[in-house]
Amino acid sequence: MGAIELHARPSPDYAAKLDETQALLVRAAASYAPLTQASSLGAEDVVITHLINALELDIPVFVLDTGMLHPQTLGLLERLKASSRAPVTVYRPQQESVIRFVRREGSDAMYRSIDLRKACCQIRKVEPLQRALQGQRAWITGLRREQSAARADVPLLDESEPRPKFNPLANWTWGDVWHYIATHGVDYHPLHDQFYPSIGCAPCTRAISLGEDFRAGRWWWEDEAAKECGLHVKDKQGVAA
Ligand code: SF4
Repeated sequence: MGAIELHARPSPDYAAKLDETQALLVRAAASYAPLTQASSLGAEDVVITHLINALELDIPVFVLDTGMLHPQTLGLLERLKASSRAPVTVYRPQQESVIRFVRREGSDAMYRSIDLRKACCQIRKVEPLQRALQGQRAWITGLRREQSAARADVPLLDESEPRPKFNPLANWTWGDVWHYIATHGVDYHPLHDQFYPSIGCAPCTRAISLGEDFRAGRWWWEDEAAKECGLHVKDKQGVAA
């Protein structure tokens, strides 16, 4: 059974949430330009890109290619680049930093300690993210409250940081996301059909079992509290990193 058959169950107020999301994206494009969508190519992000294209909004999309993505992610990225009205830009880590880190710590450093895992995320994700956000007034993510305890209070618009962050699916359920994908024929990541709810780097992402937390497939060898890659963590200055 695929992800659509398993998950596509809209909540009773789905239509109202969809209206709210569309209005928020229109307002974001009108009042917060230049802004951009950060996409991991997971289910939430392909829904947001689909909405941006359907509403013909002037919001470009970027993807971080960490060099460790699944081949299925790279396949979906190529299809998205070919089909999206909104331009899709790919940011990659600085090669010298990657080579130096892998030479020093090995290619499986992320499993040895949280510090090494975070160092890998810093080189492969956080630094390219900072480049992707340069010159942008705001950004858009696919964060949802349901994804984890750490995300339970995610607002639709987070203005607590110097660069506002729109989370237009913050109050959507997993069932709402898949209902949108099913009803609009959105191209989605094939690993979702193999019980991967969250898409990330290949060494750090696994399938989950029924009943497991959404984020259980990410950095599964670590404690729940440590499980953010730095992309949505605020540093001491309150700047999204
Ligand atoms: S998710 Fe894993 S492979 Fe990807 S950047 Fe972080 S530690 Fe490295």
